[in-house]
Amino acid sequence: MTTTAPAASTASAGTTAITNIAALVTNDPSLGDGTPIGLIQDAAVVIDGDRVAWVGESSKAPATDNAVDAGGRAVIPGFVDSHSHLVFAGDRTQEFNARMSGRAYSAGGIRTTVAATRAATDAQLDANVARYLAEALRQGTTTMETKSGYGLTVEDEARALRIAREHTDEVTYLGAHIVPPDHADDPAAYVDLVTGPMLDACAPYARWIDVFCEEGAFDGDQARAILTAGRAKGLIPRVHANQLSYGPGVRLAVELGAASADHCTRLTDADVDALAHGSTVATLLPGAEFSTRADWPDARRLLDAGAIVALSTDCNPGSSFTSSMPFCVALAVRDMGLTPDEAVWSATAGGAAALRRSDVGRLAPGARADLALLDAPSHVHLAYRPGVPLVSAVWRRGRRVH
Ligand SMILES: [Zn+2]
Repeated sequence: MTTTAPAASTASAGTTAITNIAALVTNDPSLGDGTPIGLIQDAAVVIDGDRVAWVGESSKAPATDNAVDAGGRAVIPGFVDSHSHLVFAGDRTQEFNARMSGRAYSAGGIRTTVAATRAATDAQLDANVARYLAEALRQGTTTMETKSGYGLTVEDEARALRIAREHTDEVTYLGAHIVPPDHADDPAAYVDLVTGPMLDACAPYARWIDVFCEEGAFDGDQARAILTAGRAKGLIPRVHANQLSYGPGVRLAVELGAASADHCTRLTDADVDALAHGSTVATLLPGAEFSTRADWPDARRLLDAGAIVALSTDCNPGSSFTSSMPFCVALAVRDMGLTPDEAVWSATAGGAAALRRSDVGRLAPGARADLALLDAPSHVHLAYRPGVPLVSAVWRRGRRVH
């Protein structure tokens, strides 16, 4: 989300203080009340350029060139959405409607989106990415990862990443989303393509490599080959792991030093233990369980074991067509065992950890000035008032963009 400046963008010269903040989530335990979310009451934030210059109690704020009165409302770091699939065309309304109406639906799932995406023009795909990023921004998301995975040819995967790269620095190569129909008879040849010519064409545009490690997609050996090849090209692994069935994805992610294992719905004790003792973040995607009426991942079990938990939308047209991090926060509190504090942390600092970023997901001196002003006196309202558009203003890199 770096190169397209929103039309509403306004910049103020000099320093700006946002004052009269009833509750400020900093995610810095050394600030505020000493909890992981580093809550400060009656707070102010001072922005200088694209950075946070100061946070603390409003009465102690230094003089600034400009001031914004938060009016007794809450401020949180901008959401960091570390998992989405935005480079696609078409939609899957009929499939969702059938699923939610209890009817069988046999059309092709991901393959439907692959066909529509291949048929789309660059301009159509670019406009779609811009549209969903803008939609997310209005809901407080200031950093968003996105992936390829609906092209599944060398040209279409590279095109998807080239388009994504125009909008965000957090770009993931997911040539290994599914084995496309044109390779159904020879999956090994498709793995050779993903680890060979397709990787060569895609690596220049991506920071990350991902694989859907699942029955019916890629098994443990294939996933290992794909992630290892990506790593040799300088890409950092992340894994779609243990979503629909128990399997090797999570332990492979930890073993290979992946930044994140995503979904984590079906975990053995050994999987939980691996996450608790490794550096791999467990990224939970409650929009997917909501939209497919599936079992919830057990966030409480992961946190109690000592794992780092992130929340993300998984925004995609098939299994989770939401760009709303507040919605995911509410689901995580209601159905996955997180407290409101933990859910807000996971949607901000947790997402930053899953993207190995220390400059976002927190509001402390030196951090990027990415923040959301809520139309509520507390961050708890994100779960307490589900479905209500509570994000009333957003700053990204120190500029008010919504
Ligand atoms: Zn996904």
